[in-house]
Amino acid sequence: MASGERPRTCRACGKKFDYPVKGSAATRHHCEDCVAVPAETRKILERLNTRVTQLENQLRRLQEKPPG
Ligand SMILES: [Zn+2]
Repeated sequence: MASGERPRTCRACGKKFDYPVKGSAATRHHCEDCVAVPAETRKILERLNTRVTQLENQLRRLQEKPPG
């Protein structure tokens, strides 16, 4: 695999995407879909995505170690 070409996770929607890709508008931190979203809206998406990620981690921890 060429260096610099690795799957990225979009900060806004959490989607895995390749970067850089020729002809794609995606940036290092945002996939092609989210690049098209206005910056202010994207900020909200990022906030929500952070919460979802935290919740997923919590859920995983709970599943690994059931209480009791
Ligand atoms: Zn995205």
